[in-house]
Amino acid sequence: MPRILIIHGNLLTFNNVKPYVEDGFVYIEDDVIVDYGGMDDLREEYRRADLVLNSNKRIVMPCLISAHTHLALYPVRFMASNYSSLDEWIEGVALRYERELREEVSRSAAVLALAELMEHGVGGVVDMHFNMDAIAGVLLNTGLYANLSVAIMGGGPYSSEDDALKDNLRLYENWNGAGGGRITVSLGPCTIRYVSKRLLEEVASLSREKEVGVHMHLSEVKEDVDYCKKNYGKRPVELLEELGLLSERSVFAHAVWLSLREIKLLAKHGSTVVHCPSINSLLFDGVAPLPELKRGGVGFGIGVDCAPKYSVLDEIYSSTIVYRVTYGPPQRISSRELLEYSIKYGCKALLLNQPLGAIDKGFKASLTILDLKPPARITLDEICDLIVYTRPKAETLIVDGEILVDGGENLVIGDREIRDANKVVREYLNQVFGNKSIA
Ligand SMILES: [Zn+2]
Repeated sequence: MPRILIIHGNLLTFNNVKPYVEDGFVYIEDDVIVDYGGMDDLREEYRRADLVLNSNKRIVMPCLISAHTHLALYPVRFMASNYSSLDEWIEGVALRYERELREEVSRSAAVLALAELMEHGVGGVVDMHFNMDAIAGVLLNTGLYANLSVAIMGGGPYSSEDDALKDNLRLYENWNGAGGGRITVSLGPCTIRYVSKRLLEEVASLSREKEVGVHMHLSEVKEDVDYCKKNYGKRPVELLEELGLLSERSVFAHAVWLSLREIKLLAKHGSTVVHCPSINSLLFDGVAPLPELKRGGVGFGIGVDCAPKYSVLDEIYSSTIVYRVTYGPPQRISSRELLEYSIKYGCKALLLNQPLGAIDKGFKASLTILDLKPPARITLDEICDLIVYTRPKAETLIVDGEILVDGGENLVIGDREIRDANKVVREYLNQVFGNKSIA
């Protein structure tokens, strides 16, 4: 792997020592950041790097992570606003789309979804769906980080939930640690309403035995809480604790409808929550209690889920707007905190166990250079507001020391691949939804 020197960047490091370095450098050897600092401290030997990238005062920061995503649902990302609830959308869109979903369609959808994510500086995804071998193959080729799981449920392509769990375990055996450790595999019981208590118990014991992660949807809509109270006599997080499903390896998407006691339980076990504001607003799910999660010590990442645009910065922007309007002053959660949380807990949700998510010595060389040149001498909070409110594209994306996007051009997903993927997806949408749909 070449030695890379990035010069003249404005470094948003997300480390505690020097959070912001104006006009700085980052020096990379193999897949690790060896040094960083101000241009005045640049050592002469670093200039002999194989590749020197002049970022020309742009923002250099750790790459973004989408901590809850369904890459294969990318083709139906624009269909949510016609439905007035999650259950209606699942019935009207998801189940119809998934009924005959072939590997080729999942693969093509993943190519298109990843191209858009990478365009916006995303270097890793936590993904859950079906046909996961096809998805894993695309991720292996593109070079991104990924945590993958099968959406375990009784329906869909599986004859039973046990079949789905078996497929998830096979995925774990085949793919956990693949791509030099960039890919990890978790178990994905879809949501409490879609699986039995016995299945949840089995997942809990497998998670303990194999130290494998768990990725679930949690309390996205009020119906999830009502179902749990009716069938189990307790709220969802209380049930998950009783079953042993709360741990540092557990990642829960949405978590919109939480009690304060549930927030305490999530904090006690160090579980990660993933906030997906666009889809929560499009399907009238509700507003996740981010300020309360922050105050209660629960870490949360940001996920695009299957929003109309696969961009983490757009999700952070939506979040900022929702919280300012819903809660009113004073500011309870800032752009800077949202960026920090999304990177820190997004990285945690990947379950890589490697230093990731900061520009610091010894950290993985996974960075994005955003096409944004902040004015000189503005505060760190102002820079973060600028990033979130203008949502610049990625000029460069580097994951594990590999340059994947350069000068805004995707080096690993070409135009021809995009064209072919679009064709496959368009034909499948026509097959499922008729000519009304557009890809
Ligand atoms: Zn989801």
